[in-house]
Amino acid sequence: MQIPMVDLKRQYHEIKSEIDEAVLNALEATQFILGPNVQRFEEEAAAFLGVKHAVSLANGTEALHLALLASGIGKGDEVITTPFTFIATAEAISYVGAKPVFVDIDPRTFNIDPKKMEEYIVAHGVSRMKAIIPVHLYGQAADMDPIMAIAKKHKLKVIEDCAQSFGGDYKGKMTGSFGEFGCYSFFPSKNLGCYGDGGMVTTNDPELAEKVKMLRNHGSKVRYYHSVIGYNSRLDEIQAAILRVKLKRMKRFNELRNRNAHLYSKMLEGTGVTPPFEDGNGMHVYHQYTVKTSSRDRIIEALAKEGIASAIYYPVPLHKQDVYKKDYQGLSLPITEKVSQEVLSLPIFPELTEEEIKKVVSTILTVLG
Ligand SMILES: *Cc1c(COP(=O)(O)O)cnc(C)c1O
Repeated sequence: MQIPMVDLKRQYHEIKSEIDEAVLNALEATQFILGPNVQRFEEEAAAFLGVKHAVSLANGTEALHLALLASGIGKGDEVITTPFTFIATAEAISYVGAKPVFVDIDPRTFNIDPKKMEEYIVAHGVSRMKAIIPVHLYGQAADMDPIMAIAKKHKLKVIEDCAQSFGGDYKGKMTGSFGEFGCYSFFPSKNLGCYGDGGMVTTNDPELAEKVKMLRNHGSKVRYYHSVIGYNSRLDEIQAAILRVKLKRMKRFNELRNRNAHLYSKMLEGTGVTPPFEDGNGMHVYHQYTVKTSSRDRIIEALAKEGIASAIYYPVPLHKQDVYKKDYQGLSLPITEKVSQEVLSLPIFPELTEEEIKKVVSTILTVLG
């Protein structure tokens, strides 16, 4: 039995007739750029997420980049974020000439620790600080109440990285609806994934939505009239057609991820492998199912022998990456550094079966037993 991290083929075959029809209709309509599916998808996504505006984009990295630009963040500014995330979060900050300020994480949720944020601000001040980018890592919301309180107190903007948390909530409110912007990725393996690259920002501010719409389309509101330097960063019509089919199933997909995670956690109880910690603030939508273990290498090897995939998200904290380490010499973030040595993500996707979960866990137990 082969068990991949995510089985996109299984899902495609389940919804194939509807996807194929949607794609063929988009091909027939031949309105490939900013066509009707893009428009409808943006309306449907905004309604689903409980926000006023959704603006679709070329990918999630661009969502972060254009959100920062539209928020007026640039050269010499500082943006607080987590060192325990995909590189894109920090890359976007670097694109606009600002500096990522990394603060340590909560060892249980792996999300940025608001207390560490406050400590940093007390020690260094906020003269250059302009924004916070919390990441809702693995599908569990960062602790938004204290984060929003810090932002308010110090007049910082909040741009949420929701690439892993589509449909997840914090105290009944969707991730992505707290800050100026929510930034989403539709990379194929994300909770809501298209069949190529795609991304989106959400916002409740009509002016910010307008700004991003201009930035994604060469700085232009009226065709061939350009008021700012923009980008070519649009979601294409075929991807939008696919996303509309999948959006209708998002609630169920997330519930199935959550159910599968809970099956894993129950079976892993008392084994020495630490299942993910749920802080109880909202629904964890389990983009990743990530355990902590001191036997990581041996587990990876045993799983691989059985044809079971596993992955480390993320093996190197951002302040230790080659691209950033020169600028962060002497920065010590002990929790992130320790956690990056212990985390292991196991296969998780809506269509994963109980039998497969049992197989993964029993294989892990052969190592620990
Ligand atoms: C996937 C991801 C991104 C980037 O999304 P792309 O669509 O691949 O550009 C950004 N942040 C996080 C946390 C991600 O997981």
